[in-house]
This record gives sequence, C-alpha cells and structure tokens, in this order.
Amino acid sequence: MSTEKPTEKPVDFIRQIIADDLQQGKHDQVITRFPPEPNGFLHIGHAKSICLNFGIAQENNSECHLRFDDTNPGKESVEYVESIKKDVHWLGFDWGEHLYYASDYFDQLHAFAVELIKKEKAYVCHLNGEEMRAYRGTLTEPGKESPYRNRSVEENLMLFEQMKNGELAEGECVLRAKIDMASPNIIMRDPVIYRIMKISHHRTGNTWCIYPMYDFTHCLSDMMERITHSLCTLEFENNRALYDWVLDTLETPCHPQQIEFARLNINFTVMSKRKLLQLVNEHYVNGWNDPRMLTISGLRRRGYTPASIRNFCDIIGIGKRDSWIDMGVLENSVRDDLNTLAPRVLGVLNPLKIVITNYPEDKEEELEAQNHPQNPEMGSRMLPFCRELYVEQTDFMEDAPRKFFRLSVGREVRLRYAYLITCQEVIKDDEGNIVELRCTYDPETRGGSAPDGRKVKGTIHWVSARHALQAKVRLYDRLFTVEHPDMDKEKDFKEFINPDSLQTLENCMLEPTLANADEADRYQFERQGYFCLDSEDSAPGKPVFNRIVTLRDSWAKLAKKK
Ligand code: ATP
Ligand code: MG
Repeated sequence: MSTEKPTEKPVDFIRQIIADDLQQGKHDQVITRFPPEPNGFLHIGHAKSICLNFGIAQENNSECHLRFDDTNPGKESVEYVESIKKDVHWLGFDWGEHLYYASDYFDQLHAFAVELIKKEKAYVCHLNGEEMRAYRGTLTEPGKESPYRNRSVEENLMLFEQMKNGELAEGECVLRAKIDMASPNIIMRDPVIYRIMKISHHRTGNTWCIYPMYDFTHCLSDMMERITHSLCTLEFENNRALYDWVLDTLETPCHPQQIEFARLNINFTVMSKRKLLQLVNEHYVNGWNDPRMLTISGLRRRGYTPASIRNFCDIIGIGKRDSWIDMGVLENSVRDDLNTLAPRVLGVLNPLKIVITNYPEDKEEELEAQNHPQNPEMGSRMLPFCRELYVEQTDFMEDAPRKFFRLSVGREVRLRYAYLITCQEVIKDDEGNIVELRCTYDPETRGGSAPDGRKVKGTIHWVSARHALQAKVRLYDRLFTVEHPDMDKEKDFKEFINPDSLQTLENCMLEPTLANADEADRYQFERQGYFCLDSEDSAPGKPVFNRIVTLRDSWAKLAKKK
C-alpha cells in the first residue's frame, strides 16, 4: 500500500535562491546538511528542517549530510545519536555515505584556532564569566576590551597549548576571537571560540579537554564538507556575521552561504529539547516516545505516518517570519493520509452488552463488511454475529429526545453490516446502572436494509461478544491546556499540563480480525477515529491500541461554537 502522494513543492525563497545560484553557475551541485546536536530526541520542528534540507537534495539529485554537532559532551550521548539516525531514516530520508560528526574535525578545528592566533585574531582571555559579561556591554553601550586582548602571539600559543594539555583548570581561561568590542552586533564582541571542559566525550573519549564553541565549529564544518547552502533558523541571523568572519579571516577555499528561515512553532505544545527533557526527566510523560509528545519517536508510536509528517511540512512551507501553526493542521495531515489508507474496522470502546432475544442461542453466522467503503479494491472481511453483542454505551439513551437516532426502548437501529434491531427492555443492576439491553432483530434485514423499504436512520457499530478481542485503548488529548504554555512570564510551562491528556480504557471489545494487527498497521475504528497497536506495551493476546487522531477536528468545532 503506497502512502506516497504526488506533491508539488511550492517554491519558497530558499529554493528560489538555490535555483538562481545553480542557474548562474555559482555551484556545480547544491549540498545541504542537517546538523542536530545529539542532546535529545528529534521533534516535529526538526522534521521541518530535515524535510527542507533533505528535500532540496532530493529535488536537485545531490547530497544532504547528516552531521552531529557534538561539541558539548556534558549533554550528549550515543543513545541520542542512534535515535536521531533512526528518526531521519523513518521520515524517509537517507544521507548515504555522508554521515559526519563535528568531533571528527577536532584536530582540524584546533589547527584553525592556532592559525587565528597566529594571525593575531584570537587570544587567551583570563576574565572570569562575570567579568566577561560586564566587559561585553549592552545593546546601547559598547563593550570594553579585555586586559588580556593584546597578549603576544607566542604567549597565546603557549597558553592555548596548556589549555589543550589539561594544564589549566576548567573555567580558568578561554580562547576568544579578536573582533570588535564596539560592534553593534554583540555576538561580534570577541566571542569565545574554545573552552576548557574536563569531560569525556562519547566519541573522542578523554583525548580532548578543550572543546570548540558552536559558532566556530559550525561554519568550519560546513566549509570542510563543501556545503553550499547552510540553512538554519532565524535566531541565528545575528550569528551569520561571525560565521562569515571566521571563514573570511581564515581565507578558506570555500564559503558556504548561511540562510535563515522561520522555525516551526505549534500551539498547545512546547518544542525546545530542553523543555521536552524536563517533561521526560520529571515524569510528566512516559519517555521521549510518549505518544503525546511531538517528538518524531512519539509521533511514530502514536501512529503518524512519515508521509503525513512530510505533507505537513510541505503545507506549512518555508518563510522568513515566525508564526504559530495550529495543532489542527498537524492532525489534519495524518487524518488525510489515513483516510485513504486505513482499513475500516468495528471496535466498541465502552461496551454495553445486548442480547438479541429472538436469535437462537447456538447460532452463529458471518456477515460481509467492506474494508473501505470508498475503495472497493481494499476488499472485505467476514464479521461473526451471534445472540450476544456489545455496542457503545453512548449509543443507548433511556429518555432519548426525538432526534436521537440510536438505541432507546422501542426504537429501531441498524447494526453496521448486520441487521435492524429494536430495543425492547433495559436491564439494570441493584444500583440502577444499565448493564444490558434486550433487543429483537428482524431476520429479513440481513445486510442492513428492510425489504419493505422502511427507513431507519441510525447505524451503530457492534462486536460479537463471543468472538470479541478484548483490548486496552488509550485516548489522547493535547498535553497542554493553553495555546502558548511557555510564553507566560509568571508561570512555569509545566503548570499548564493537561491532567486529562491520557485516558486509558481497560476493557474495549474489538472485532476479532484485529487479533492479527501488526505494529505497522493503522485502522479506522468506525465512528471513533484512527488507531494503531502500541509498539511498546502490547503483548501477545493483550493488545494495547493508541488513538492516533479523532475522525474530525473536535477542537475547531468547539472554537466555532464559542
Ligand atoms: P531546540 O531549540 O528545540 O532545543 P535545537 O535548535 O537546539 O533545538 P539542534 O539539534 O541544534 O536543536 O537542531 C538541529 C537543526 O534543526 C538546526 O538546524 C535547527 O535550526 C533545526 N531546528 C530546531 N528546531 C527547529 C524548529 N522548531 N523549526 C525548524 N527547524 C528547527
Ligand atoms: Mg538551538
């Protein structure tokens, strides 16, 4: 079953720049990169960047590198590296042989730093953190030059060597670029480019105790890999001057072009890895792949398809201005995809038993049900039917209004793909809870229509009690109750967590064909939404299903009513 839809990519401003560059012969081929820091799992925001970078490479028949920006060993791990690789592949992209690590460049980066020192463009500075902040100045005031700024090349080389050899203590000094303490762009006021960190690195072990900073590493890594267009989010706009300064000052043989685009923001969620990590560590969610998280692994476990995420990224487009995307847009993208590919099944989430009193006790029959009413090619299946069935509790109402076209004493409804039944009697327990309905069926209505042409408006789903597959079902709601949980200055974002974001139904009754469900399958439970098997908590004979998304956008409806 193909999930591919032909998509016509809109030409955004980045694709336009690239097309122009190629046309003018600036490059023989375009090379992009996706540069995650392995300090957490990827989220839907990263998917936007992945689709952009790998998408451009695909469209131009060229390469996109996966490069781990692993210069901060205190926060990084191999587990994160592996999860990122898995997620990029799952999204449908391949870096081929172009897998790189900034840590593989530590020797070259160190040599470039030495070169900067020799060019009198970098110096070892002994100001402590607090002093450095005080010397930096503000947006309206220029900074002050460090007293260590005019050290000789020899002294700087010696001190940098001592830093590298572990002879100096962490925090004792740093290597800074010598640019301009009066620059209106604060980033250019002699930024730190190397710091001492006596921490073992997940790839280089204890080889290094100095590590290069992002701004120094990134441009040089891009340059060494001959990236043509280095695409990043808008918060790096001011860093571009430094990106260019490093490459210009070192007179590198190639100079990639940094272009910034607006990051993805979605309402009712938080996106930064730092905050997602808090949710995980403080057990607000059950791990990085909790189906309520908008991480790639969470979306995968929830049942989102890679195609639906790629389509979402196409729909939102690439722009220059920061904006908010409604969560409903993401949900619609998976709905659209599953609507065409998911077979329909019957599943009762909150079962109410009914007994068909005029159906023989020992009789069983099989009724044919379409797998996809709009797509006959998806075929049909047989549903067992017998005297005792389950229907949805909400499909019965004792004092039903006239327009309630479902079960109530004396009313007739259609059981999907089966018969017309009429409710005759309600059975209650001692406390007055409804425990069972007694109904009669019309044997002349097999398949669901009456030979006499009488009209029955309501159709409900059901499952044979004798054959039902018992399952646990998890229903999800948004993780936060407000649109912008991390934009309240007074409150921590975790105060806005939705206490009802996970609802577990322990005793659902599903049609027996679902016993063969596989993790990769997705289903529409008729009238209930789209579901898939939970990949972690399901065990043989004990299935757990996740609701991926409801059938309609109930939130949009609520907003309209207001
Ligand atoms: P976060 O801000 O969520 O902690 P990050 O930017 O620190 O993420 P990186 O690993 O540095 O995470 O990101 C890798 C790439 O993904 C970068 O090029 C970054 O610009 C891009 N990226 C991160 N978040 C988003 C987003 N919300 N929308 C688009 N691109 C993003
Ligand atoms: Mg970041």
